[in-house]
Amino acid sequence: MDKCVSVVVPCYNEEQALPYFIQEIQQVAAQMATKQVELEILLINDGSRDSTLTLLRQYAKEYQNVRYLSFSRNFGKEAAMYAGMEHARGDYVAIMDADMQDPPALLPQMYDMLQTGDYDSVATRRVSRKGEPPIRSLFARIFYKLMRKISDADLVDGARDYRLMSRPMVDAILSMKEYNRFSKGIFGWVGFRTHWLPYENVERVAGETKWSFWKLFRYSLEGIVAFSTVPLAIASVVGLLVCLVAVAALVVVLVKTLAFGDPVDGWPSMVCIILFLGGIQLLTMGIMGQYLAKTYLETKKRPIYILAEQSEE
Ligand code: UDP
Ligand code: MG
Repeated sequence: MDKCVSVVVPCYNEEQALPYFIQEIQQVAAQMATKQVELEILLINDGSRDSTLTLLRQYAKEYQNVRYLSFSRNFGKEAAMYAGMEHARGDYVAIMDADMQDPPALLPQMYDMLQTGDYDSVATRRVSRKGEPPIRSLFARIFYKLMRKISDADLVDGARDYRLMSRPMVDAILSMKEYNRFSKGIFGWVGFRTHWLPYENVERVAGETKWSFWKLFRYSLEGIVAFSTVPLAIASVVGLLVCLVAVAALVVVLVKTLAFGDPVDGWPSMVCIILFLGGIQLLTMGIMGQYLAKTYLETKKRPIYILAEQSEE
């Protein structure tokens, strides 16, 4: 075999999807073998509470191209992707979901595209969000629009984590050891030439999505804090604007009092103004707190994941 492609697959409670996945990926492996390419399948058990780990042990025994890592608890997909890339031995590394929403059959095509030498990475992008709750799609759209405006991470709407990367790009990603990982941003931030492969959304083959709306919402906030400091700037701009308004109001009040000698009134409006300013101050502190919290976690330099077990070599 000339080249090796590692396929990194984060698995969290995927006992239902994995049997389908392993079938399909082994077919792809056979297809790649005709191109003189070896496939290394690296499954990462992200602290599953079902029988995922048992399945992984079994696959590692059954197929000699399968290896696995197992975390001591659930560290999240980001950590699983990092661990997988760290342990991958291939000249190329692919990241793929276990639920076949990232069609394994696209892999040979992606590999061929890299062979032209024009690109360092081939990434996939969903052109439809069929089968997804409309409210989720709406928020996703808003998020991507916003991120493109306020960060230098170059996010692409509908981008999946499913992509094939060359070794230099993988090493660049591994060199980013931040604890709060937002891969969609990291992929864009490291640069390199990426070809986008559009495809129609595919629904999960089995099992349930691990992302609730709330979890996604928090993840998107994390992405903003990780890749943009614009919210901090907004806080100071709003502060400045409020100051200007206050000065203008002061002048109005002064002139009015001197000209008409107004008696004291306007208590209700005063209360409103105090509440308004108090709100803005708390909001600003909250934004600063978000950044401070991230900084705090980063300074601890905690490991991104902890292994409990891995396949024998
Ligand atoms: N996943 C993981 N850890 C988690 C959540 C998800 O490793 O904490 C894996 C999951 O097993 C799957 C992939 O990440 O292979 C994508 O998850 P899912 O299909 O639930 O997300 P969706 O496709 O709905 O965005
Ligand atoms: Mg999925």
